[in-house]
Amino acid sequence: MIKFLDLQKINLAHQQEIEEKLLQTFRSGWYLMGNEVKAFEEQLADYIGAKQAIGVANGLDALRLILRGYIEMGIMQKGDEILVPANTYIASILAISDNGLVPVLVEPDLSTYNIDISKIEEKITSKTKGILIVHLYGRVVFSETLKNLATAHGLKIIEDNAQAIGAEWIGVKTGNLGDAAGFSFYPGKNLGALGDAGGVTTNDEELAKTIRALANYGSNQKYVNIYQGLNSRLDEIQAAVLGVKLKYIDAENNRRREIAKRYIKEIKNPNIILPENPESEAEHVWHVFIVRTAEREKLQNYLTENGVQTLIHYPIPPHKQEAYKEWNNLSFPISEKIHEEVLSLPISPVMSDDEVTEIIQVINKF
Ligand SMILES: *Cc1c(COP(=O)(O)O)cnc(C)c1O
Repeated sequence: MIKFLDLQKINLAHQQEIEEKLLQTFRSGWYLMGNEVKAFEEQLADYIGAKQAIGVANGLDALRLILRGYIEMGIMQKGDEILVPANTYIASILAISDNGLVPVLVEPDLSTYNIDISKIEEKITSKTKGILIVHLYGRVVFSETLKNLATAHGLKIIEDNAQAIGAEWIGVKTGNLGDAAGFSFYPGKNLGALGDAGGVTTNDEELAKTIRALANYGSNQKYVNIYQGLNSRLDEIQAAVLGVKLKYIDAENNRRREIAKRYIKEIKNPNIILPENPESEAEHVWHVFIVRTAEREKLQNYLTENGVQTLIHYPIPPHKQEAYKEWNNLSFPISEKIHEEVLSLPISPVMSDDEVTEIIQVINKF
């Protein structure tokens, strides 16, 4: 059985370094708001090229805290609208509605699976305050047009960079393209912790300061509270592990690129639509490798029977979820088609060439 993602193998690739760090952190007696978090924040800011990085508890909180920060700063207020792709993972949307902001769904582009930038302007109203772009599946979504639209309408660009750490657009890393970015270090992400973890990057010093306080009970100074904040801190243990793994992210993303390149070149099956390569290799870190077919269930069962584990990212579009009942009658045909047809093949930095070959051969016989 070829696993969809062999997390054990991924982490054991750095066994010695990680175990040393874990032991050192355990023995230090300091588990929150210490040197490991500080060091990782500096390392992440440096890697992304942003002025500030803030460790938080998870990716959803990273996005929630960015929007909450803008609310505390008076840049956004409850009832304001935030544009977001209709086919994103639900966390992007939850972060908006949790803050009393209104998510406005925009259809994706079927060739990139990312928000269709040409459909953004028609959704902008006097209440629109931001665009939450999602570099879905690890692929960058950005353009001069997007930047100009945001400038012209005074909108903040917030990046959901949960799936695309290490990707670049014309030499600039995701997480440094917009005004602020949220990262998830959920174990299965390209940079994964040993549990929940997340981060925010930004060049906006005031936003960074606000988020730091918000994530720590609304306090910058012990027992002095300026906001009604939350508890969303990154653990020392997780920061220590992430600090080790961040050193290898480029090499690991490159291995993902090699595998994606082989899939695209060698999978030859008229019933299966492969993802399109971006203009530059740097624009994709292949968090997941998506194929599309009208016969998804058949393909998934066939692959399972032939020892290849697959997943669906994602089976139900956000607007069809019970959690957002008020949207259930809305129609987003492109998004719906994607949710009906996509299937994710195994891809990871620890897959062997033989495993890739086997998957290609099995798919070509479908
Ligand atoms: C994983 C993910 C999140 C949420 O991250 P968590 O760390 O699980 O809270 C948000 N957005 C996207 C696109 C994700 O893939």
